[in-house]
Amino acid sequence: MRPRLSGDLRRANRVEVMRSFYGGRTLTRGDVAAQLGVSVATAGTIIGELTAAGLLAETQSTRSGGGRPASQLTMRAGAPYLVGVDLAETHVIAEIFDQAMTRVGHFQMPVAPTDDDPDSVVGHVVDSIQGVIAGLAGVSAADVAGVGVSLPGQVDREGGVSVHAPNWGWHGVPFTSLFTKRCDLPVLLDNPLKAITLAEMMFGEAGDRDNQTDTVVVNLGTGVGLGIVAEGRLLRGRTNSAGEWGHTVLVADGLPCHCGSRGCVEAYVGAAALLDLLTEVDPDSPLLVPGDQAATVARLAEAARRADPVAVATLERFARPLGMALANAVNMLNPELLVVGGWVSAAFGEPLLAAVEPVVKEFSLTVPYDAVTLAASRIADNPVSLGMAVLAFETFVLP
Ligand SMILES: [Zn+2]
Repeated sequence: MRPRLSGDLRRANRVEVMRSFYGGRTLTRGDVAAQLGVSVATAGTIIGELTAAGLLAETQSTRSGGGRPASQLTMRAGAPYLVGVDLAETHVIAEIFDQAMTRVGHFQMPVAPTDDDPDSVVGHVVDSIQGVIAGLAGVSAADVAGVGVSLPGQVDREGGVSVHAPNWGWHGVPFTSLFTKRCDLPVLLDNPLKAITLAEMMFGEAGDRDNQTDTVVVNLGTGVGLGIVAEGRLLRGRTNSAGEWGHTVLVADGLPCHCGSRGCVEAYVGAAALLDLLTEVDPDSPLLVPGDQAATVARLAEAARRADPVAVATLERFARPLGMALANAVNMLNPELLVVGGWVSAAFGEPLLAAVEPVVKEFSLTVPYDAVTLAASRIADNPVSLGMAVLAFETFVLP
């Protein structure tokens, strides 16, 4: 284990205290002490630092049991602002948040599949950031403390480099240095799985549970992956690539995967696989919109809700490999909570979980299966930009 200096520990404590307030929570010093397992005096010291930095404010005092009134604290709204960017293969979404992590603006632009030149893509990101700031009356770039950009694929956070983004054929693209040539806002990079997992920890299902320390957040989209919270910490691994569940092998020498391997989870449960399954069930299905994953999945989900036999059969076939791959995650990580999110999951909602749960049970060991709760993500807005804004806040605002 890497040694940590006392300054690092104090900062880590401030991060943990701040995280307990996200999502508009109002807490006393005693509540924070209980959540973090520290003394009220320690919680009080950290809260004092955060209040002095203008991040927390007292809202009211409550008197319980006739004792001294306990001050209620909450995050302070307003400036400085943070921008979270979800850069994906098909779009750039930039969203702006105030320091209490309330979303106050949204800007979106499409990225053409052929538009893979790094300079051009970075240009779209900068345009989107400028667009979302310009859309907020009375706010300028001077009010923005920093930007968090989520990039698909493998990201070197310290070096600011996109190590590998397979869909664009990027290898070693110096994203941060290209960015700073065009925009002087402080910027950090990460991978969407990490952003989504942070958002779920603080604003989703996991954030609502006391002592929620072991959580797996599954992202189902064109690509698939998962985020791991183990013993209360986001697991990054040695090279920030922990959670590449989509490229673990589900079927020996199975279907080819765009990563170059065969039999990967993603080849069976990515959105493209869902379209292939629909084609197998009914090659002439009117639900199929060739070349358009989002439109096909939306039609399929709507048809599944009205028990259309082709849609139900497709969903059942999809649930087999998905349930098996989730059971692998349950057996390997022994989570208390397994959240299923991503745009494919959001399109189907509960019928997907209902189809998958018996398969997870069938392929999980009994003890970890009995310990886990499966839940659909409740975060309605974009969790990637939210998680990236949280990281930007913790990096550029939190003392
Ligand atoms: Zn793969």
